[in-house]
Amino acid sequence: MPYTKCPICGAIAHLNVSDARQWYATHYPDVPEGSLVPGKCIACSQELQEGDTVVVRQCFIPEAIAKPGMRGTVTAVLSSPEHGTIYEVTFNDSTKHHFIRAELRKAPVGSPKRKSTRTSGTA
Ligand SMILES: [Zn+2]
Repeated sequence: MPYTKCPICGAIAHLNVSDARQWYATHYPDVPEGSLVPGKCIACSQELQEGDTVVVRQCFIPEAIAKPGMRGTVTAVLSSPEHGTIYEVTFNDSTKHHFIRAELRKAPVGSPKRKSTRTSGTA
C-alpha cells in the first residue's frame, strides 16, 4: 500500500491501488516499495479558481482572523512562477483574507449548510 505525504499541507495518506509494486515502479522507481513518498492529498489536489466556494482548513499564522470552518469565495488567485500562489477569499461579511493553499479546501458541492438556520425563501 503506497503511503504519501502531501507536499502542500503535510497530510499522510495511503493510496488504494491494485498493484502497489507496479505503482512504486511507475512513480518512484528508485524508492523501496512501502516507502513514504510525496503525493498531494485529496484536499490539496483540486485546483482553486476564482468563484470557487472554499472552507478554511487551518491558519498557519496565530493572529489570523479567519477561523477553521469559515466558508468563503475565492475572489482572486494571485500567482507568479517565481513566488508561488496565494488566494484572496471573501467571506459573507465582505471581509477579505489571503491564504496559502494548505489553509483552504474546496467546499463539497451540495453539502448541507450546517450553520444556516434560514428557513425562508423559495423551494
Ligand atoms: Zn494536502
